[in-house]
Amino acid sequence: VSRRSRRDPGALPRFCRETRSALPALVDGELTGWSRRVVDRHLRRCADCRVELARQRDVAAALQHLRAASPEPPARLIEDLLGIARRRGIRQRVAVPARGAVSGARPALSVAFLTVGAVASTGAGWAIWRGARRLRRR
Ligand SMILES: [Zn+2]
Repeated sequence: VSRRSRRDPGALPRFCRETRSALPALVDGELTGWSRRVVDRHLRRCADCRVELARQRDVAAALQHLRAASPEPPARLIEDLLGIARRRGIRQRVAVPARGAVSGARPALSVAFLTVGAVASTGAGWAIWRGARRLRRR
């Protein structure tokens, strides 16, 4: 009469599913009390869930590192971007579709933000974006 033995082999066991839904809170240090003890106990027994926990910790650590590192982009890079942004062709092409999104900001910097946004998926893009935000506050 074991229902567990008939479970779909592709599906995670119930305890694994519940553990994984709690992993983000565990990584954030927000999982406490009874829930924490249940998850800890499962992790001790389940290698698959430990692997998933390690993966989520890696991602969280990488994001934390990006936030904490406060990368200082080379000044020349920003100057170059602003120079590119000042050229009419790019300004028209980049700024027009996003006009609503940048209204109120200074045009040159807005275009720079958009230019930076185009490369923001890279680590360098992130650094430039942070630098551009800092410029804006001055
Ligand atoms: Zn598990």
